[in-house]
Formats: sequence, structure tokens, C-alpha cells
Amino acid sequence: MNIHEYQGKAVLKEYGAPVSAGFPALSVAEAVEAAKKLPGPLYVVKSQIHAGGRGKGKFKELPADAKGGVRLAKSIEEVESHAKEMLGNTLVTAQTGPAGKQVNRLYIEDGSDISKEFYLSALVDRETSRVAFVVSTEGGMDIEKVAHDTPEKILTFSVDPATGIMPHHGRTVAKALGLGGEQAKQAATVLGQVYAAFVGKDMAMLEINPLIVTTQGQVKCLDAKVSFDSNSLYRHPELMELRDETEEDAKEIEASKHDLAYIALDGTI
Ligand code: ADP
Ligand code: MG
Repeated sequence: MNIHEYQGKAVLKEYGAPVSAGFPALSVAEAVEAAKKLPGPLYVVKSQIHAGGRGKGKFKELPADAKGGVRLAKSIEEVESHAKEMLGNTLVTAQTGPAGKQVNRLYIEDGSDISKEFYLSALVDRETSRVAFVVSTEGGMDIEKVAHDTPEKILTFSVDPATGIMPHHGRTVAKALGLGGEQAKQAATVLGQVYAAFVGKDMAMLEINPLIVTTQGQVKCLDAKVSFDSNSLYRHPELMELRDETEEDAKEIEASKHDLAYIALDGTI
């Protein structure tokens, strides 16, 4: 089961991981209210759909040179005009397919001054039966492209479930990201928090792209793409409330009512 970015960040926050302040919004008025609760002067208006690549995405209904599905705003008025342009429109990204997805929710987030963008993800590695991490200095980019063009810039390692995250994992990640001192410590802490969230909530995949260091030297999770192992949802009734059926395939929803693990495919079957 997939969830929205803002919900994923709320889960990460439960485990202490550093995320920005923000509020979801279902209407332009709610977006303005949300922005008023944030300190400013930089805000980010983020489309909430179950797909990545939103920043570089395009809205079907807007001119080709219009901004994408993640937009910076320097005033409440700008938050309002972005919200108006985005809500109800169809965002097409590299991950939505050509049909795109209608944006029905926004996340209004405190803007960060980004110094560096990294990539961090965790997944279940079936080969080793462990949680594996993928880490790269090339954040904010398409990780498949990085893996293809510059595989040396990607570090992967798996974690022994008996020990969990160890100090050496933190040092390895900090070194791979070129971090020292205070940032290395913060990165190691975040790694432990992310692992705890992953295991604690039975996640299947967690992608933080980008993980950033701000110009003030703070490590932060700026994006969060989370999916849970559907077979373990019975253990987490609180997660069922995060489900957004408008984002799911109607056939999969119907199948799930009958306890079937059904995955809809493209084409005519
Ligand atoms: P997606 O991966 O779907 O494009 P992201 O959440 O990664 O969406 O946002 C795209 C880009 O927008 C990020 O790589 C980052 O540069 C910028 N961005 C996102 N959130 C913020 C924020 N809170 N403050 C400043 N910049 C942000
Ligand atoms: Mg991202």
C-alpha cells in the first residue's frame, strides 16, 4: 500500500527523523491557511499523488512552459496562485504514465535552503532476506539513471536483523556522502531512525530523494515515498487510515476486499 509524501513524513517524524513543518490542503483556502501557519518567507507547494518525479512533471491543462508539481513560493499570495493552478489539474510525471494523475491534495511545506541533495532508500532485499539501503551523493535525480551511468556513485549495503543499524553503518553512509563532523553524526542518526521506521511499520520501500543538508548545516528528509507490505497491514490498523483509494486501481481495491493480492497490469488481458 502506498501513501502520500506528507503521510510518509508524519511516520518518519514519529521515529524522530528530521522533516520540515507542513500541512496538507484539499482546497485553495486550506493552502492559504496552511501557509499562514508556517514561518516563511519561503514556502513549497507540493502536489500529493502516489507517484514521484512531481517537480519535473507537467500539468496537462496548463501551457507547456508552466511550472511543475512542486513549486517554491515567496509569499502567501504566491502559494495561493500555485494552489489554484495545481488543484484539480492532471499531473503527468515519469512515474504516472501518459494519463497522469489528478492532483486533489497539496502539501504546503516550509521551504529549506538547500546546500546538498543526496539519495537514501531502504527496501527488502529478498536475496539476503534483509533490509538493504541504497545511498548516493546524486540526490534529486533519477536514481535508475545514476545506477546506469555512474554506478560507482551508488552504495548499497544490507543490515543484519539481529544487530540492526550499527555505528559502522552510520560511518559508511557519512563517508559515501562526503559528510564529516556534525553532519556525519546527524546522517548516522537519521539512518537509525529510518531503519526503525522501516522495520516498525513493516515498510516494503522507503525512498528519501532528496535527503538534504541545509545551508545551516542541518540534515533533513525533504521527500518521502513510502509503501507498506500489504500482508502486514493487519498489524497496523493506524496505517489503514492513511489509505487514499482515489489513488488506487479500482480492480486492486475490489480484490483487496476479498483478501486477494492482485496487481493490475497494463494492456489487454
Ligand atoms: P519529486 O521527487 O516528486 O519531484 P520532491 O519532494 O523531491 O518531489 O521535490 C522536488 C525538488 O523540489 C527537490 O529535489 C527539492 O530540490 C525541491 N524541494 C522539495 N521540497 C522542498 C522544500 N521543503 N524546500 C526547498 N526545496 C524543496
Ligand atoms: Mg523526490
